[in-house]
Amino acid sequence: MINQRTIAKPVSMTGIGLHSGAKVEVAFRPANANTGIVYTRTDLNPTVSIKCNAQNVRDTQLCTALVNEDGVRISTVEHLTAALSALGIDNLYVDVNAPEVPVMDGSAQPFIYLFASTGIQELSTPKKFIRVTRKVRVENEGKWAELTPSESGFHLDLQIDFDHPAMDKDKQHYAMDFTGEAFASDVSRARTFCFMRDVEFMHAHNLALGGSLDNAVVLDDRRVINPEGLRYEDEFVKHKLLDAIGDLYMSGHSILGNFKAYKTGHDLNNRLLRALLSDSANYQILEFTKPQEGQSQTIDFLDAKKIIAAY
Ligand SMILES: [Zn+2]
Repeated sequence: MINQRTIAKPVSMTGIGLHSGAKVEVAFRPANANTGIVYTRTDLNPTVSIKCNAQNVRDTQLCTALVNEDGVRISTVEHLTAALSALGIDNLYVDVNAPEVPVMDGSAQPFIYLFASTGIQELSTPKKFIRVTRKVRVENEGKWAELTPSESGFHLDLQIDFDHPAMDKDKQHYAMDFTGEAFASDVSRARTFCFMRDVEFMHAHNLALGGSLDNAVVLDDRRVINPEGLRYEDEFVKHKLLDAIGDLYMSGHSILGNFKAYKTGHDLNNRLLRALLSDSANYQILEFTKPQEGQSQTIDFLDAKKIIAAY
């Protein structure tokens, strides 16, 4: 039996907003089974809540945002969502006192660490998985992403294609069998990256006021300008994989299937998820109410105690 999860107790964190550059506080509270991930803008009067789901996702120039029917948005949710996916957290209240979740270091690692230290609470209701039952593919200008049925678990295979002196051609592909631990150790620390020319453009338009070398890898025409260099030699493709994991968890349910993509991004990933969910012949909602023989269809989520021991 694989059950739904939330966090063991309330916890909060403070960081800088990528858009505003201002200090942002986000408070997380445990939620009951089948609540989903619910964001609340506590800076608005009255407060506004938006449930995380594929239909509310908007890709912006800077980040992924959740937007409700009245146009109220909460931005920069993608790396937090990737961390929730790895921890198998299905239910959570996220209260933010700003239009955006703090960007932290541009990776998922601060969220993993926070929740692993806080503790994970298993609930008594079975977890719901989305199992891909037939191939779904989306394409755009030579970029593509697809989901196909898998005999076991969730597998990802992603290729990027940058022509840049600091991005080795043989470090632009990454494949993984998704487990919480593989995500935490091999992918979660990969940071967002951008090019100096983008930074100049954004600052000229008063965007990304909180963006800095503290929360992104920045490349000029020749090299990575962050003095500390890269965290993984294939950090760029790993960050794109991290983004895809977050994007595919926007439905609030873990996927059982094979994800394969070429030069994909938030927009294409979200279109893929919507395409999957648009036809009930593409998928099946599964619960594992009995112990599985050989765990053949399941994913191992992050064991918080092991992660804390590793830090
Ligand atoms: Zn990202």
